[in-house]
Amino acid sequence: MPRSRKYKCIICGRIFPEGQGIVIKYGKTLLTFHSNRCASKFLRLLLERVPPEELEKYIKRIINEQEEKLRSLEEIKKKKI
Ligand SMILES: [Zn+2]
Repeated sequence: MPRSRKYKCIICGRIFPEGQGIVIKYGKTLLTFHSNRCASKFLRLLLERVPPEELEKYIKRIINEQEEKLRSLEEIKKKKI
């Protein structure tokens, strides 16, 4: 039986098995969070540290994309009714 990989949450240090938690590869860095709560804590720290001039344009783009997606979902719902 293959041993499943274990990860350590970078926020709280908890060990969790592969398939649970959130694992994101960012460049050469592996971001590992045992829970959504730890991931949101990291997101908050990240947003506090990166200057808005750098990140804001990407964030706005994501917001626009999501709005677009939500809008097309609404359209589909309307058509079904
Ligand atoms: Zn954690």
